[in-house]
Amino acid sequence: MSLSNSITSLPEIDQIMDQSMQSFLAYKKVSAIERAAFLERIAFEIEALGEELIKTTKEETNLPEARLLGERGRTTMQLRMFASMLLEGSWVEASIDHAIPDKVPAKPDIRKMLVPVGPVVVFGASNFPYAYSTAGGDTASALASGCSVVVKAHPAHLRTSTLIAAAIEKAIDFCKMPKHCFQHVTGTSFEIGKALVQQSNTSAVGFTGSFTGGRALYDYASVRNKPIPVFSEMGSTNPVLLLQDALLQNAETIATQYAGSITLGVGQFCTNPGLIIGIQSVGLNRFKATLSNAINQVAPAKMLHVGILKAYETKLSKVLANAGVTPLTNEIAFDADIASPMIVHVQGIDFLKDENLKEEVFGPYAIIVECTDMDELKAVWNSVSGQLTTSIMGSDKDFEANPELIELATQIAGRVLLNGVPTGVEVCASMVHGGPYPATTDSRFTAVGLNAVKRWVRPVCYQNCPDHLLPEALKETNPFKIKRMIDGNPYQ
Ligand code: NAP
Repeated sequence: MSLSNSITSLPEIDQIMDQSMQSFLAYKKVSAIERAAFLERIAFEIEALGEELIKTTKEETNLPEARLLGERGRTTMQLRMFASMLLEGSWVEASIDHAIPDKVPAKPDIRKMLVPVGPVVVFGASNFPYAYSTAGGDTASALASGCSVVVKAHPAHLRTSTLIAAAIEKAIDFCKMPKHCFQHVTGTSFEIGKALVQQSNTSAVGFTGSFTGGRALYDYASVRNKPIPVFSEMGSTNPVLLLQDALLQNAETIATQYAGSITLGVGQFCTNPGLIIGIQSVGLNRFKATLSNAINQVAPAKMLHVGILKAYETKLSKVLANAGVTPLTNEIAFDADIASPMIVHVQGIDFLKDENLKEEVFGPYAIIVECTDMDELKAVWNSVSGQLTTSIMGSDKDFEANPELIELATQIAGRVLLNGVPTGVEVCASMVHGGPYPATTDSRFTAVGLNAVKRWVRPVCYQNCPDHLLPEALKETNPFKIKRMIDGNPYQ
Protein backbone atom coordinates (compact mmCIF):
# COMPACT_ATOMS: atom_id res chain seq x y z
CA MET A 1 0.00 0.00 0.00
CA SER A 2 1.20 3.50 -0.80
CA LEU A 3 0.43 6.33 1.57
CA SER A 4 2.93 8.69 0.09
CA ASN A 5 1.89 9.85 -3.34
CA SER A 6 4.61 7.73 -4.93
CA ILE A 7 3.54 5.62 -7.89
CA THR A 8 2.47 2.02 -7.29
CA SER A 9 4.38 -0.39 -9.52
CA LEU A 10 2.75 -3.20 -11.48
CA PRO A 11 4.45 -6.03 -9.53
CA GLU A 12 3.05 -4.53 -6.29
CA ILE A 13 -0.55 -5.10 -7.44
CA ASP A 14 -0.47 -8.86 -6.73
CA GLN A 15 0.81 -8.23 -3.22
CA ILE A 16 -1.79 -5.50 -2.58
CA MET A 17 -4.66 -7.70 -3.73
CA ASP A 18 -3.36 -10.72 -1.77
CA GLN A 19 -3.28 -8.53 1.34
CA SER A 20 -6.76 -7.30 0.53
CA MET A 21 -8.07 -10.87 0.34
CA GLN A 22 -6.39 -11.82 3.63
CA SER A 23 -7.86 -8.77 5.26
CA PHE A 24 -11.31 -9.44 3.79
CA LEU A 25 -11.40 -12.86 5.45
CA ALA A 26 -10.97 -11.16 8.85
CA TYR A 27 -12.93 -7.95 8.13
CA LYS A 28 -16.10 -9.72 7.01
CA LYS A 29 -16.32 -11.26 10.51
CA VAL A 30 -16.13 -7.87 12.24
CA SER A 31 -19.51 -7.19 13.88
CA ALA A 32 -21.93 -4.68 12.39
CA ILE A 33 -21.56 -2.50 15.50
CA GLU A 34 -17.76 -2.36 15.14
CA ARG A 35 -17.98 -1.69 11.40
CA ALA A 36 -20.43 1.15 12.10
CA ALA A 37 -17.99 2.63 14.61
CA PHE A 38 -15.21 2.36 12.00
CA LEU A 39 -17.26 4.28 9.39
CA GLU A 40 -18.08 6.95 12.00
CA ARG A 41 -14.38 7.23 12.84
CA ILE A 42 -13.44 7.69 9.16
CA ALA A 43 -15.92 10.59 9.02
CA PHE A 44 -14.34 12.05 12.16
CA GLU A 45 -10.78 11.71 10.79
CA ILE A 46 -11.77 13.39 7.49
CA GLU A 47 -13.24 16.32 9.41
CA ALA A 48 -10.06 16.45 11.51
CA LEU A 49 -8.03 17.12 8.33
CA GLY A 50 -9.65 20.58 8.49
CA GLU A 51 -8.40 23.43 6.35
CA GLU A 52 -5.44 21.47 4.94
CA LEU A 53 -7.78 19.17 3.04
CA ILE A 54 -9.90 21.97 1.57
CA LYS A 55 -6.82 24.01 0.61
CA THR A 56 -5.16 21.03 -1.11
CA THR A 57 -8.26 20.09 -3.11
CA LYS A 58 -8.81 23.71 -4.14
CA GLU A 59 -5.30 23.79 -5.58
CA GLU A 60 -5.72 20.49 -7.38
CA THR A 61 -9.23 20.78 -8.85
CA ASN A 62 -10.10 24.48 -9.33
CA LEU A 63 -13.28 23.80 -7.36
CA PRO A 64 -14.42 26.67 -5.11
CA GLU A 65 -14.28 26.40 -1.32
CA ALA A 66 -18.08 26.48 -0.84
CA ARG A 67 -18.52 23.51 -3.16
CA LEU A 68 -15.72 21.59 -1.41
CA LEU A 69 -17.16 22.25 2.04
CA GLY A 70 -20.55 21.01 0.83
CA GLU A 71 -19.02 17.93 -0.76
CA ARG A 72 -17.02 17.11 2.35
CA GLY A 73 -20.26 17.33 4.36
CA ARG A 74 -21.96 14.98 1.92
CA THR A 75 -19.06 12.52 2.20
CA THR A 76 -19.07 12.34 5.99
CA MET A 77 -22.89 12.19 5.96
CA GLN A 78 -22.72 9.17 3.61
CA LEU A 79 -20.31 7.40 5.96
CA ARG A 80 -22.62 8.06 8.92
CA MET A 81 -25.68 7.01 6.91
CA PHE A 82 -24.08 3.60 6.20
CA ALA A 83 -23.12 3.34 9.88
CA SER A 84 -26.80 3.81 10.86
CA MET A 85 -27.82 1.25 8.25
CA LEU A 86 -25.48 -1.29 9.87
CA LEU A 87 -26.90 -0.64 13.33
CA GLU A 88 -30.50 -1.07 12.10
CA GLY A 89 -29.53 -4.29 10.33
CA SER A 90 -32.41 -5.12 7.95
CA TRP A 91 -30.24 -4.38 4.89
CA VAL A 92 -28.90 -7.97 5.03
CA GLU A 93 -32.41 -9.14 3.96
CA ALA A 94 -32.45 -11.98 6.49
CA SER A 95 -35.16 -14.50 5.76
CA ILE A 96 -36.04 -17.69 7.66
CA ASP A 97 -38.13 -20.62 6.44
CA HIS A 98 -38.59 -23.11 9.28
CA ALA A 99 -38.51 -26.82 8.61
CA ILE A 100 -41.80 -28.69 8.13
CA PRO A 101 -40.73 -32.30 8.79
CA ASP A 102 -44.19 -33.83 8.20
CA LYS A 103 -44.66 -32.16 4.80
CA VAL A 104 -44.24 -34.63 1.89
CA PRO A 105 -41.47 -34.35 0.86
CA ALA A 106 -40.17 -32.86 4.14
CA LYS A 107 -39.31 -29.15 3.98
CA PRO A 108 -35.81 -28.44 5.36
CA ASP A 109 -34.92 -25.40 7.50
CA ILE A 110 -33.62 -22.73 5.07
CA ARG A 111 -32.22 -19.34 6.08
CA LYS A 112 -30.93 -16.66 3.74
CA MET A 113 -29.00 -13.39 4.00
CA LEU A 114 -26.68 -11.17 1.99
CA VAL A 115 -22.92 -11.64 2.43
CA PRO A 116 -19.99 -9.52 1.14
CA VAL A 117 -18.42 -10.60 -2.18
CA GLY A 118 -14.71 -9.99 -1.43
CA PRO A 119 -12.10 -7.31 -2.18
CA VAL A 120 -13.57 -4.35 -4.12
CA VAL A 121 -11.49 -2.07 -6.36
CA VAL A 122 -12.77 1.53 -6.50
CA PHE A 123 -11.66 4.06 -9.15
CA GLY A 124 -11.83 7.62 -7.80
CA ALA A 125 -13.83 10.10 -9.92
CA SER A 126 -12.25 13.34 -11.15
CA ASN A 127 -15.41 15.41 -10.63
CA PHE A 128 -16.13 14.37 -7.02
CA PRO A 129 -12.78 14.50 -5.19
CA TYR A 130 -14.47 13.57 -1.89
CA ALA A 131 -17.98 12.16 -2.40
CA TYR A 132 -17.05 9.76 -5.23
CA SER A 133 -13.39 9.20 -4.60
CA THR A 134 -11.19 7.76 -1.85
CA ALA A 135 -13.74 7.72 1.00
CA GLY A 136 -16.75 8.36 -1.24
CA GLY A 137 -19.97 6.45 -1.76
CA ASP A 138 -18.35 3.39 -3.37
CA THR A 139 -15.78 2.97 -0.58
CA ALA A 140 -18.28 3.71 2.21
CA SER A 141 -20.86 1.24 0.90
CA ALA A 142 -18.25 -1.47 0.24
CA LEU A 143 -16.71 -1.12 3.72
CA ALA A 144 -20.22 -1.16 5.20
CA SER A 145 -20.99 -4.42 3.40
CA GLY A 146 -17.93 -6.13 4.92
CA CYS A 147 -15.76 -5.99 1.78
CA SER A 148 -12.14 -4.86 1.89
CA VAL A 149 -11.39 -1.96 -0.48
CA VAL A 150 -8.50 -0.96 -2.74
CA VAL A 151 -8.84 2.59 -4.13
CA LYS A 152 -7.14 3.64 -7.36
CA ALA A 153 -6.59 7.37 -6.76
CA HIS A 154 -7.62 9.73 -9.56
CA PRO A 155 -4.40 11.44 -10.74
CA ALA A 156 -6.16 14.82 -10.97
CA HIS A 157 -6.38 15.03 -7.15
CA LEU A 158 -3.65 12.73 -5.92
CA ARG A 159 -2.65 14.79 -2.88
CA THR A 160 -6.29 15.01 -1.74
CA SER A 161 -6.66 11.28 -2.17
CA THR A 162 -3.47 10.64 -0.19
CA LEU A 163 -4.67 12.84 2.70
CA ILE A 164 -7.99 11.01 2.85
CA ALA A 165 -6.28 7.62 2.63
CA ALA A 166 -4.17 8.63 5.64
CA ALA A 167 -7.36 9.57 7.53
CA ILE A 168 -8.81 6.11 6.80
CA GLU A 169 -5.55 4.53 7.99
CA LYS A 170 -5.87 6.43 11.28
CA ALA A 171 -9.43 5.13 11.66
CA ILE A 172 -8.20 1.56 10.99
CA ASP A 173 -5.65 1.91 13.79
CA PHE A 174 -8.05 3.60 16.20
CA CYS A 175 -10.80 1.01 15.67
CA LYS A 176 -8.35 -1.91 15.50
CA MET A 177 -9.72 -3.02 12.14
CA PRO A 178 -7.85 -5.72 10.18
CA LYS A 179 -4.76 -4.22 8.55
CA HIS A 180 -5.20 -3.69 4.79
CA CYS A 181 -9.02 -3.63 4.87
CA PHE A 182 -8.42 -0.37 2.96
CA GLN A 183 -5.46 0.26 0.62
CA HIS A 184 -4.52 3.13 -1.67
CA VAL A 185 -3.00 2.69 -5.12
CA THR A 186 -1.56 5.50 -7.21
CA GLY A 187 -0.38 5.68 -10.80
CA THR A 188 -1.36 7.09 -14.16
CA SER A 189 -0.78 4.08 -16.38
CA PHE A 190 -3.89 2.25 -17.59
CA GLU A 191 -1.86 -0.91 -16.95
CA ILE A 192 -2.31 -0.35 -13.19
CA GLY A 193 -6.10 -0.13 -13.55
CA LYS A 194 -6.16 -3.15 -15.84
CA ALA A 195 -4.01 -5.21 -13.43
CA LEU A 196 -6.26 -4.28 -10.49
CA VAL A 197 -9.40 -5.38 -12.35
CA GLN A 198 -7.81 -8.59 -13.60
CA GLN A 199 -6.04 -9.67 -10.38
CA SER A 200 -7.57 -12.95 -9.30
CA ASN A 201 -8.52 -11.75 -5.77
CA THR A 202 -10.53 -8.77 -7.04
CA SER A 203 -14.22 -9.56 -6.60
CA ALA A 204 -16.00 -6.39 -7.85
CA VAL A 205 -15.19 -2.95 -9.27
CA GLY A 206 -16.75 0.50 -8.82
CA PHE A 207 -16.04 3.29 -11.32
CA THR A 208 -17.29 6.80 -12.21
CA GLY A 209 -15.92 8.57 -15.27
CA SER A 210 -15.81 8.41 -19.05
CA PHE A 211 -17.61 5.89 -21.24
CA THR A 212 -14.26 4.77 -22.69
CA GLY A 213 -12.78 4.15 -19.23
CA GLY A 214 -15.85 2.46 -17.74
CA ARG A 215 -16.33 0.21 -20.74
CA ALA A 216 -12.60 -0.71 -20.78
CA LEU A 217 -12.76 -1.85 -17.15
CA TYR A 218 -15.91 -3.85 -17.89
CA ASP A 219 -14.18 -5.56 -20.83
CA TYR A 220 -11.05 -6.35 -18.76
CA ALA A 221 -13.30 -8.04 -16.19
CA SER A 222 -15.31 -10.02 -18.68
CA VAL A 223 -12.23 -11.73 -20.20
CA ARG A 224 -10.93 -12.90 -16.80
CA ASN A 225 -11.04 -16.67 -16.19
CA LYS A 226 -13.51 -15.81 -13.45
CA PRO A 227 -15.52 -12.74 -14.60
CA ILE A 228 -16.57 -10.31 -11.87
CA PRO A 229 -19.19 -7.53 -11.69
CA VAL A 230 -18.06 -4.04 -12.75
CA PHE A 231 -20.32 -1.17 -11.75
CA SER A 232 -19.28 1.60 -14.13
CA GLU A 233 -21.22 4.86 -14.00
CA MET A 234 -20.38 6.51 -17.30
CA GLY A 235 -22.54 9.57 -17.63
CA SER A 236 -25.45 10.76 -19.61
CA THR A 237 -26.98 13.57 -21.66
CA ASN A 238 -29.99 13.64 -19.30
CA PRO A 239 -32.72 14.58 -21.81
CA VAL A 240 -35.25 17.21 -20.76
CA LEU A 241 -38.69 17.46 -22.39
CA LEU A 242 -40.25 20.91 -22.53
CA LEU A 243 -44.00 20.53 -22.95
CA GLN A 244 -46.01 23.23 -24.64
CA ASP A 245 -48.41 24.48 -21.97
CA ALA A 246 -45.62 24.62 -19.37
CA LEU A 247 -43.57 26.79 -21.75
CA LEU A 248 -46.54 29.01 -22.54
CA GLN A 249 -47.05 29.61 -18.80
CA ASN A 250 -43.44 29.72 -17.57
CA ALA A 251 -40.83 29.77 -20.38
CA GLU A 252 -38.66 32.42 -18.70
CA THR A 253 -38.69 30.79 -15.25
CA ILE A 254 -37.84 27.38 -16.69
CA ALA A 255 -35.03 28.84 -18.82
CA THR A 256 -33.49 30.60 -15.82
CA GLN A 257 -33.67 27.40 -13.76
CA TYR A 258 -31.95 25.46 -16.55
CA ALA A 259 -29.26 28.09 -17.12
CA GLY A 260 -28.20 27.49 -13.50
CA SER A 261 -28.27 23.71 -13.85
CA ILE A 262 -26.31 23.62 -17.15
CA THR A 263 -23.49 25.78 -15.81
CA LEU A 264 -23.39 24.49 -12.20
CA GLY A 265 -19.84 23.38 -11.36
CA VAL A 266 -18.74 24.31 -14.92
CA GLY A 267 -21.13 21.63 -16.17
CA GLN A 268 -18.97 18.86 -14.70
CA PHE A 269 -21.75 16.67 -13.35
CA CYS A 270 -22.94 13.37 -14.78
CA THR A 271 -26.50 14.67 -14.34
CA ASN A 272 -25.87 17.84 -16.35
CA PRO A 273 -28.92 18.52 -18.61
CA GLY A 274 -27.16 18.35 -21.98
CA LEU A 275 -30.14 17.63 -24.26
CA ILE A 276 -33.28 19.78 -24.24
CA ILE A 277 -36.19 18.76 -26.49
CA GLY A 278 -39.21 20.92 -27.32
CA ILE A 279 -41.85 21.49 -29.99
CA GLN A 280 -41.65 24.61 -32.18
CA SER A 281 -43.81 27.31 -30.61
CA VAL A 282 -43.77 30.85 -29.29
CA GLY A 283 -43.08 29.39 -25.83
CA LEU A 284 -39.97 27.55 -27.08
CA ASN A 285 -38.71 30.75 -28.73
CA ARG A 286 -39.11 32.61 -25.42
CA PHE A 287 -37.25 29.77 -23.66
CA LYS A 288 -34.35 29.89 -26.16
CA ALA A 289 -34.01 33.67 -25.87
CA THR A 290 -33.99 33.69 -22.05
CA LEU A 291 -31.65 30.70 -21.79
CA SER A 292 -29.12 32.17 -24.27
CA ASN A 293 -29.15 35.54 -22.50
CA ALA A 294 -28.66 33.92 -19.11
CA ILE A 295 -25.82 31.69 -20.36
CA ASN A 296 -24.08 34.68 -21.98
CA GLN A 297 -23.89 36.26 -18.51
CA VAL A 298 -21.98 33.27 -17.08
CA ALA A 299 -18.23 33.86 -16.98
CA PRO A 300 -15.90 31.21 -18.46
CA ALA A 301 -14.22 29.13 -15.75
CA LYS A 302 -11.44 26.59 -15.20
CA MET A 303 -12.37 22.94 -15.50
CA LEU A 304 -11.15 20.14 -13.23
CA HIS A 305 -8.13 19.30 -15.31
CA VAL A 306 -6.73 20.13 -18.72
CA GLY A 307 -7.73 16.71 -20.14
CA ILE A 308 -11.38 17.44 -19.39
CA LEU A 309 -11.11 20.90 -20.99
CA LYS A 310 -9.56 19.39 -24.15
CA ALA A 311 -12.26 16.69 -24.27
CA TYR A 312 -14.94 19.43 -23.93
CA GLU A 313 -13.48 21.40 -26.81
CA THR A 314 -13.07 18.33 -29.05
CA LYS A 315 -16.67 17.25 -28.48
CA LEU A 316 -17.94 20.81 -29.11
CA SER A 317 -16.01 20.95 -32.40
CA LYS A 318 -17.68 17.70 -33.50
CA VAL A 319 -21.13 19.12 -32.68
CA LEU A 320 -20.42 22.38 -34.50
CA ALA A 321 -19.25 20.46 -37.60
CA ASN A 322 -22.91 19.59 -38.30
CA ALA A 323 -24.25 22.19 -40.76
CA GLY A 324 -27.67 22.05 -39.08
CA VAL A 325 -26.29 23.12 -35.69
CA THR A 326 -26.46 26.83 -34.78
CA PRO A 327 -24.84 28.34 -31.67
CA LEU A 328 -27.34 30.37 -29.61
CA THR A 329 -24.68 31.84 -27.31
CA ASN A 330 -21.59 34.02 -27.83
CA GLU A 331 -18.66 32.71 -29.86
CA ILE A 332 -16.07 30.98 -27.69
CA ALA A 333 -12.28 30.90 -27.82
CA PHE A 334 -10.87 27.39 -28.11
CA ASP A 335 -7.29 28.44 -27.30
CA ALA A 336 -8.07 29.62 -23.75
CA ASP A 337 -7.40 27.51 -20.65
CA ILE A 338 -10.94 28.14 -19.41
CA ALA A 339 -14.23 26.70 -20.60
CA SER A 340 -16.96 28.96 -21.96
CA PRO A 341 -20.54 27.79 -21.64
CA MET A 342 -22.39 27.07 -24.88
CA ILE A 343 -25.96 26.39 -26.04
CA VAL A 344 -26.62 25.18 -29.58
CA HIS A 345 -29.78 24.57 -31.56
CA VAL A 346 -30.77 21.94 -34.12
CA GLN A 347 -33.96 20.73 -35.82
CA GLY A 348 -35.27 17.30 -34.79
CA ILE A 349 -34.76 15.82 -38.27
CA ASP A 350 -31.04 16.78 -38.27
CA PHE A 351 -30.51 15.52 -34.73
CA LEU A 352 -31.93 12.11 -35.62
CA LYS A 353 -29.38 11.71 -38.43
CA ASP A 354 -26.18 12.52 -36.47
CA GLU A 355 -24.89 10.19 -33.73
CA ASN A 356 -22.29 12.78 -32.61
CA LEU A 357 -25.10 15.06 -31.41
CA LYS A 358 -26.37 12.32 -29.08
CA GLU A 359 -23.07 11.96 -27.20
CA GLU A 360 -22.36 13.49 -23.79
CA VAL A 361 -20.42 16.76 -24.03
CA PHE A 362 -19.02 16.92 -20.50
CA GLY A 363 -19.05 20.62 -19.58
CA PRO A 364 -21.30 23.72 -19.49
CA TYR A 365 -23.20 22.83 -22.66
CA ALA A 366 -26.67 21.89 -23.89
CA ILE A 367 -28.23 21.26 -27.29
CA ILE A 368 -31.83 22.35 -27.89
CA VAL A 369 -33.62 20.06 -30.32
CA GLU A 370 -36.64 21.73 -31.94
CA CYS A 371 -39.28 19.24 -33.11
CA THR A 372 -42.27 19.69 -35.41
CA ASP A 373 -44.72 17.78 -33.24
CA MET A 374 -45.13 15.33 -30.34
CA ASP A 375 -44.30 12.31 -32.53
CA GLU A 376 -40.96 13.80 -33.54
CA LEU A 377 -40.26 14.80 -29.92
CA LYS A 378 -40.80 11.19 -28.83
CA ALA A 379 -38.62 9.91 -31.71
CA VAL A 380 -35.77 12.22 -30.63
CA TRP A 381 -36.19 11.20 -26.97
CA ASN A 382 -36.20 7.50 -27.88
CA SER A 383 -33.18 7.83 -30.16
CA VAL A 384 -30.82 8.44 -27.24
CA SER A 385 -29.39 5.50 -25.34
CA GLY A 386 -29.79 4.66 -21.62
CA GLN A 387 -29.68 7.61 -19.24
CA LEU A 388 -29.13 8.39 -15.57
CA THR A 389 -32.00 10.88 -15.61
CA THR A 390 -34.72 12.28 -17.81
CA SER A 391 -36.83 15.31 -16.88
CA ILE A 392 -40.24 16.48 -18.03
CA MET A 393 -41.31 20.09 -17.65
CA GLY A 394 -45.09 20.02 -17.99
CA SER A 395 -48.32 21.47 -16.62
CA ASP A 396 -51.35 19.43 -15.49
CA LYS A 397 -52.83 20.14 -18.95
CA ASP A 398 -49.66 18.77 -20.64
CA PHE A 399 -49.73 15.55 -18.60
CA GLU A 400 -53.48 15.09 -19.21
CA ALA A 401 -52.82 15.34 -22.95
CA ASN A 402 -49.77 13.00 -22.82
CA PRO A 403 -50.32 10.51 -19.98
CA GLU A 404 -47.93 7.98 -21.56
CA LEU A 405 -44.80 10.13 -21.08
CA ILE A 406 -43.91 9.07 -17.54
CA GLU A 407 -44.14 5.39 -18.45
CA LEU A 408 -41.90 6.03 -21.50
CA ALA A 409 -39.43 7.89 -19.28
CA THR A 410 -38.91 4.81 -17.09
CA GLN A 411 -37.73 2.90 -20.17
CA ILE A 412 -35.00 5.49 -20.74
CA ALA A 413 -33.63 6.46 -17.32
CA GLY A 414 -33.10 5.41 -13.70
CA ARG A 415 -34.41 8.73 -12.32
CA VAL A 416 -37.49 10.43 -13.77
CA LEU A 417 -37.93 14.06 -12.72
CA LEU A 418 -41.03 16.19 -13.06
CA ASN A 419 -40.68 19.96 -13.15
CA GLY A 420 -37.16 20.18 -11.80
CA VAL A 421 -33.52 20.07 -12.80
CA PRO A 422 -31.45 16.85 -12.69
CA THR A 423 -28.31 18.28 -11.05
CA GLY A 424 -28.21 17.81 -7.28
CA VAL A 425 -28.45 14.13 -6.38
CA GLU A 426 -30.06 13.63 -2.96
CA VAL A 427 -28.39 10.93 -0.84
CA CYS A 428 -31.24 8.88 0.63
CA ALA A 429 -32.81 5.42 0.66
CA SER A 430 -35.07 6.06 -2.35
CA MET A 431 -32.45 7.60 -4.67
CA VAL A 432 -31.58 5.80 -7.91
CA HIS A 433 -28.37 7.01 -9.49
CA GLY A 434 -28.03 4.50 -12.28
CA GLY A 435 -29.75 3.65 -15.52
CA PRO A 436 -29.79 1.50 -18.63
CA TYR A 437 -26.52 1.01 -20.54
CA PRO A 438 -24.49 3.05 -21.41
CA ALA A 439 -25.36 5.24 -18.41
CA THR A 440 -24.12 2.31 -16.31
CA THR A 441 -22.99 -1.25 -16.93
CA ASP A 442 -25.72 -2.65 -14.66
CA SER A 443 -29.05 -0.85 -14.54
CA ARG A 444 -30.30 -2.92 -11.60
CA PHE A 445 -28.20 -0.96 -9.11
CA THR A 446 -27.67 2.56 -7.82
CA ALA A 447 -24.34 4.25 -7.03
CA VAL A 448 -25.92 6.75 -4.60
CA GLY A 449 -28.00 6.14 -1.48
CA LEU A 450 -28.39 3.21 0.90
CA ASN A 451 -29.03 0.67 -1.85
CA ALA A 452 -25.51 1.29 -3.23
CA VAL A 453 -24.43 -1.39 -0.73
CA LYS A 454 -26.29 -4.04 -2.78
CA ARG A 455 -23.53 -3.92 -5.42
CA TRP A 456 -21.07 -5.58 -3.06
CA VAL A 457 -23.11 -8.47 -1.66
CA ARG A 458 -24.61 -11.74 -2.81
CA PRO A 459 -27.30 -13.95 -1.25
CA VAL A 460 -26.36 -17.18 0.55
CA CYS A 461 -28.77 -19.64 2.11
CA TYR A 462 -28.00 -22.11 4.87
CA GLN A 463 -29.92 -25.37 4.80
CA ASN A 464 -30.42 -27.37 8.05
CA CYS A 465 -27.63 -25.40 9.78
CA PRO A 466 -27.57 -25.75 13.61
CA ASP A 467 -28.51 -22.47 15.30
CA HIS A 468 -25.16 -21.98 17.06
CA LEU A 469 -23.31 -22.18 13.70
CA LEU A 470 -25.50 -19.57 11.96
CA PRO A 471 -24.56 -15.88 11.54
CA GLU A 472 -26.16 -13.65 14.20
CA ALA A 473 -28.76 -12.27 11.78
CA LEU A 474 -30.18 -15.76 11.17
CA LYS A 475 -30.14 -17.19 14.71
CA GLU A 476 -33.54 -18.02 16.20
CA THR A 477 -32.91 -15.65 19.14
CA ASN A 478 -32.40 -12.55 16.90
CA PRO A 479 -30.18 -10.80 19.50
CA PHE A 480 -29.99 -7.49 17.59
CA LYS A 481 -33.73 -7.43 16.77
CA ILE A 482 -33.04 -7.26 13.04
CA LYS A 483 -36.21 -7.20 10.89
CA ARG A 484 -36.53 -10.55 9.10
CA MET A 485 -38.93 -12.35 6.81
CA ILE A 486 -40.23 -15.37 8.74
CA ASP A 487 -41.96 -18.23 6.90
CA GLY A 488 -42.86 -15.95 3.99
CA ASN A 489 -44.42 -13.24 6.19
CA PRO A 490 -43.29 -9.66 5.56
CA TYR A 491 -40.18 -8.36 7.32
CA GLN A 492 -40.96 -8.02 11.06
P1 NAP B 1 -11.58 8.75 -17.10
O1 NAP B 1 -10.69 9.11 -18.23
O2 NAP B 1 -12.67 7.81 -17.38
O3 NAP B 1 -10.64 8.16 -15.93
C1 NAP B 1 -11.13 7.77 -14.67
C2 NAP B 1 -10.23 6.71 -14.07
O4 NAP B 1 -10.32 5.52 -14.86
C3 NAP B 1 -8.75 7.09 -14.05
O5 NAP B 1 -8.20 6.60 -12.85
C4 NAP B 1 -8.17 6.35 -15.23
O6 NAP B 1 -6.85 5.91 -15.05
C5 NAP B 1 -9.03 5.12 -15.29
N1 NAP B 1 -9.10 4.64 -16.67
C6 NAP B 1 -9.67 5.28 -17.73
N2 NAP B 1 -9.55 4.53 -18.85
C7 NAP B 1 -8.90 3.41 -18.48
C8 NAP B 1 -8.46 2.26 -19.20
N3 NAP B 1 -8.69 2.11 -20.50
N4 NAP B 1 -7.80 1.31 -18.51
C9 NAP B 1 -7.56 1.43 -17.19
N5 NAP B 1 -7.94 2.50 -16.46
C10 NAP B 1 -8.60 3.47 -17.10
O7 NAP B 1 -12.26 10.02 -16.46
P2 NAP B 1 -11.72 11.48 -16.13
O8 NAP B 1 -10.25 11.56 -16.10
O9 NAP B 1 -12.39 11.84 -14.90
O10 NAP B 1 -12.29 12.43 -17.25
C11 NAP B 1 -12.21 12.19 -18.63
C12 NAP B 1 -13.59 12.31 -19.24
O11 NAP B 1 -14.50 11.47 -18.54
C13 NAP B 1 -14.24 13.67 -19.15
O12 NAP B 1 -13.86 14.53 -20.15
C14 NAP B 1 -15.70 13.34 -19.23
O13 NAP B 1 -16.11 13.23 -20.56
C15 NAP B 1 -15.82 12.02 -18.56
N6 NAP B 1 -16.33 12.05 -17.17
C16 NAP B 1 -17.61 11.76 -16.99
C17 NAP B 1 -18.12 11.76 -15.70
C18 NAP B 1 -19.53 11.42 -15.48
O14 NAP B 1 -19.93 11.31 -14.34
N7 NAP B 1 -20.28 11.26 -16.50
C19 NAP B 1 -17.33 12.07 -14.61
C20 NAP B 1 -16.00 12.38 -14.84
C21 NAP B 1 -15.51 12.35 -16.14
P3 NAP B 1 -5.56 6.86 -15.02
O15 NAP B 1 -5.53 7.39 -13.64
O16 NAP B 1 -4.46 5.90 -15.27
O17 NAP B 1 -5.74 7.91 -16.04
